[in-house]
Amino acid sequence: MTTRIREFLKHRLQDGPCLVVDLDVVRDNYLGFARALPDTKVYYAVKANPAPEILRLLAELRCCFDVASISETEAVLAAGATPERISYGNTIKKESEIAAAAKLGVTLFAIDCEAEVEKVARAAPGSRVICRIHCDGSGSEWPLSRKFGCEPAYAADILELAHKRGLAPYGVSFHVGSQQHNIEAWDRALASTASVFRACAERGITLAMVNLGGGFPARYVRKTPKLESYGKAIFRSLRKHFGNAVPETIVEPGRGLVGNAGIIQAEVVLIAKRSPEDEVRWVYLDIGKFHGLAETIDESIRYPIRTPRDRDETAPCIIAGPTCDSVDVLYEKTPYPLPVSLAIGDKVLIEAAGAYTATCSSVGFNGYPPLRQYVI
Ligand SMILES: *Cc1c(COP(=O)(O)O)cnc(C)c1O
Repeated sequence: MTTRIREFLKHRLQDGPCLVVDLDVVRDNYLGFARALPDTKVYYAVKANPAPEILRLLAELRCCFDVASISETEAVLAAGATPERISYGNTIKKESEIAAAAKLGVTLFAIDCEAEVEKVARAAPGSRVICRIHCDGSGSEWPLSRKFGCEPAYAADILELAHKRGLAPYGVSFHVGSQQHNIEAWDRALASTASVFRACAERGITLAMVNLGGGFPARYVRKTPKLESYGKAIFRSLRKHFGNAVPETIVEPGRGLVGNAGIIQAEVVLIAKRSPEDEVRWVYLDIGKFHGLAETIDESIRYPIRTPRDRDETAPCIIAGPTCDSVDVLYEKTPYPLPVSLAIGDKVLIEAAGAYTATCSSVGFNGYPPLRQYVI
């Protein structure tokens, strides 16, 4: 909780849950990345929180951007960034979207299969392409599974095809899984990356860039290593696998840049026992999985929740959202300790909620409006 957010909430009169994001924290986080990874350019993963105020601040700080769609591209350009500062990182694009991005001046695209190379070659001839390789995501709380990235041994074939089609094979990207707790998670991916660089060199193709992806954590309930430790571990691995020929590097933090900058204020709607002897109470909030807390799926992300009664004794609770859908339960497998004195109408604060919340809110499921966001 920052003083600015506390002051803002004190004076807020509207009803209903809201997310408040403090731009000072985003600025500090950006400078933190610049310190922890001094030779690495930061591309903000816009999907984490595309609020125009955040994009404008980062554009002013000379940050670059990782986008996944045309509207994200337009939002970044509207915030004052130039197209050279954009990487189109989504490997799943319609040909019409690639053409539209190229028309807006974007020249760097991610690909992870031959069909996508063909599309980029047709729709954005001459562009630079980065091949995304698969990572297993172990050690992360929000793994990105097998949906993205080719097997590393296949990457050189894909990049060679790009070369044949007149594109510029530019590098390799990966994502070690979001909210990654293991600072060594980048090592294996960098070993694979170095082997792709070698395989391409043998075919006369010189790659220039490694995109180290995201994965840098926000601080939720579980403690996380410091950003400096990630920076040091990544630098060690780069030296280990590339020797003195360390390539150009970029990172694409989403959560790590905005996660801890936002706080959701919500309200207790109901506290229920399902039988008189029940020890675990059901606590229903006015926000749930459909209105910003989607990352509680599988209880993956465990947000710190503060109440006005945190000095009191606690007991385990099941926490759920307000909608009439049974998946709208936040924490049940691992009940959440909340004060026994907690009462209906109490305001609660859900911390580190700046990433993957406002944009993951439904438009009006069950009549609840989308999560309101204030960027201050
Ligand atoms: C979502 C995403 C990111 C950001 O990941 P975080 O774990 O939030 O830092 C980075 N790169 C790509 C390609 C992504 O899809």
